[in-house]
Amino acid sequence: MAEHVTIPAHVLAAIEKHQRQCSDPMAAFFYDLPALAAHGAAIKAALPANVELYYAIKANSEAAIIDTLAPIVDGLELSSGGEIERACNSATPRPWVLSGPGKLDSEMRHAMLQGVEAFHIESLNEIARLQSIAASLQLTQPVLIRINPTLADEFSSRLKMAGAATPFGIDEVQLADAVNAVDSAANLTLRGFHIHAMSHQKSEQRHQQLLRFYLRRWPQWRALARDPEELTQLNVGGGIGVNYLEPSQQFDWPNLCMALGRQLEAMHEPPRVRFEIGRFLTAFCGYYAIEVIDTKVSHGEGFLVCRGGTHQFRLPVAQDHDHPVIHLPRRSRLPIPSNATEYPPWTVVGQLCTPKDVLSRHQSLRDVAIGDLLVLPLAGAYGYNISHADFLCHPRPEQIFVTHASDSLATEAMRLAQSEAMN
Ligand SMILES: *Cc1c(COP(=O)(O)O)cnc(C)c1O
Repeated sequence: MAEHVTIPAHVLAAIEKHQRQCSDPMAAFFYDLPALAAHGAAIKAALPANVELYYAIKANSEAAIIDTLAPIVDGLELSSGGEIERACNSATPRPWVLSGPGKLDSEMRHAMLQGVEAFHIESLNEIARLQSIAASLQLTQPVLIRINPTLADEFSSRLKMAGAATPFGIDEVQLADAVNAVDSAANLTLRGFHIHAMSHQKSEQRHQQLLRFYLRRWPQWRALARDPEELTQLNVGGGIGVNYLEPSQQFDWPNLCMALGRQLEAMHEPPRVRFEIGRFLTAFCGYYAIEVIDTKVSHGEGFLVCRGGTHQFRLPVAQDHDHPVIHLPRRSRLPIPSNATEYPPWTVVGQLCTPKDVLSRHQSLRDVAIGDLLVLPLAGAYGYNISHADFLCHPRPEQIFVTHASDSLATEAMRLAQSEAMN
């Protein structure tokens, strides 16, 4: 499994350097910023004409991550006053939109004063509140209505945000009322619609179907408005999944883009489509490196007790999966390929006093010793920032942003040695 994931030489070097500097066993996140930039640029480059890419910063809102992606993407998608602060402090200011349920009046006002591009309206009540704030500021505010569409079962992915009862968006049956309410609001202008219906979508074919469904509906939705011509934007959300269990098999993004491009070309008046992606942009750049503190056997099951745990990296329990693990033995620092037939499977746990603190099970790792490192890849999205990091009063992990190969000769040698060990 994990043998499909390799750790780039400059990241390995940063991990090793950090471990040397730690007096206690280490637990830290490492983010490969050059890889993030390259991945973001590739996602952007694959887009069809007239399709935009926004970064949904809730996936990872660290300043270095935003600063790396901001020059590459067309804008940012934000959902709180705190995220507005992060975006406005970015080294490269970009257009941004504000979405999410439960927006505060203070946040909406602040957003308008800070120059929000558009609001994504999540409820009928929000229209009235937004109108009165825009009126008090004497502004005309562009908005998109978030739709909770009626979806057939075949569209569903793991985490449904629509097509069912959710706090998000406005049901399709109420859409005409919502459009009328915006049309009647003197200080709001309707620019289009927003749908973020899925999360963890791993099937590119299903996502194609979903986009086709939105585009078929687009003229009907648009026709509800007083001036349909004024409605030009269709934000199709994010939700592109990451395959954590088979890291070599990832979502075929270029193919989705090609299919979407053909679809748009065939349309009479195509909307300006926008993606707002979180997970698929940042997941791949992150690594959570933890040191083995103890090894033990209990009732026939082997446990590797590591520094850190699910209070720092909640993703595996949140997803209910066994995260891939790369073993870096202390002395040689070369990853040892796993061999399921010869070695008993380990359960990788952290320091918390709860049986739920499990990062991975069934890991057939050879000759693991105290002081070795385990590296959990694909940790760049919804990793540290969704975790309950203060639980049990453990110190927070360091987050290290790796910018380049610091010691190129040594790291190149390590890379070669690593690829030999892999082959
Ligand atoms: C979380 C979220 C996104 C990003 O979702 P990913 O699954 O990380 O791509 C986009 N839009 C909205 C409205 C969201 O809430």
